[in-house]
Amino acid sequence: MTTNPKTVALIAHDGKKADMVAFAIEHKAVLQKYELLATRTTGTLLRDKCGLNVNIMLSGPHGGDAQIAAKVAEGQIEAVFFFIDPLNAQPHDPDIQGLLRICNVHNVPLATNPATAAFVISAKAL
Ligand code: PGA
Repeated sequence: MTTNPKTVALIAHDGKKADMVAFAIEHKAVLQKYELLATRTTGTLLRDKCGLNVNIMLSGPHGGDAQIAAKVAEGQIEAVFFFIDPLNAQPHDPDIQGLLRICNVHNVPLATNPATAAFVISAKAL
């Protein structure tokens, strides 16, 4: 049930949002070739600070990660860029673990830090 094989999802925890903005600015030329999907606060930053056209879901703590996980499960997402903050507890950890699990169940590329994201975004296969 693939609606758009060229969709990528972007999510960043609060402690990693600056890293996500920097990543998006650096790779804007590639990112703007794709349909972009993001959780609310991340997506708003990508739109306002990076000038990217982003489809905005619910905020992560309000179910945005779960929404994106559902799309991954349906085969609608090409890759997930999910910059996780490992130093702070998240109230929606069950949703976060669910998204990571679904990416692994469906073998969808998943970058959880900027260094990995740089490799994934540079991959020809994406
Ligand atoms: P946010 O959600 O982009 O709405 O902050 C991200 C998250 O915490 O999962």
